[in-house]
Amino acid sequence: MNPSISPVPSGVAETLFISDLHLDPERPALIRLVERFLAGRAANAEALYILGDLFEYWIGDDTPSAGLEIVIHALHELSAGGVPVYFMAGNRDFLVGETFAAQTGCKLLRDPTLIELYGVPTLLMHGDTLCTDDHAYQALRHQLRHPQWQSEFLSLPVEKRQAQALALREQSRQATQSKREEIMDANPQAVASAMREHGALRLIHGHTHRPAIHRFSLDDRDVQRIVLGDWYVHGSVLSATPSGLTLETL
Ligand code: MN
Repeated sequence: MNPSISPVPSGVAETLFISDLHLDPERPALIRLVERFLAGRAANAEALYILGDLFEYWIGDDTPSAGLEIVIHALHELSAGGVPVYFMAGNRDFLVGETFAAQTGCKLLRDPTLIELYGVPTLLMHGDTLCTDDHAYQALRHQLRHPQWQSEFLSLPVEKRQAQALALREQSRQATQSKREEIMDANPQAVASAMREHGALRLIHGHTHRPAIHRFSLDDRDVQRIVLGDWYVHGSVLSATPSGLTLETL
């Protein structure tokens, strides 16, 4: 991405949203793309929101994978330069913690979080909790998010954690192959109830890797659900300005 071709002229307020980068030391070209994005486009933004799965996997703040230091450093530069950076964990990097926050200057967000985005109450989520038709996944999520499971996992030696993370990735890959597409998408009732509960007129989430701006009616009000795209082939970024939203491919 070249910041000079940004469609938003400098000086215009812009808030950026990204998710599902799935950064992995095994894909250095993607890490360089993200580094350029953080130092360029993002450095001119009013704020950057990372809505989960920044990393392909994260086995604890005490073991930053070799090759990812560039990203940690670029996030720190961005926040130190005065751009607020918010991080919400996804299903791959839910073990990101306070040490990561201190190293990068990111502010950790709960899932879900309601923000006021240029006057519009906007609910932010990673998106996996919306996939309520995927019962097997929700059961696994419940197990992995349990504080006791997490403290036991984090007390294991690094090699054991690495082996378990790889096993979970393989398990997820196989489970994904055998599930029907619609089971792994956001459930409309889960979307409606989350938006209703928080009084949101807009929902922004990632996780499903199905980028789109959905417009629909909820309780006689026009609302939007924006799904962020993944960064497997191209980058994907949502730009919010006082005049509207643009879902861009980098
Ligand atoms: Mn995800």
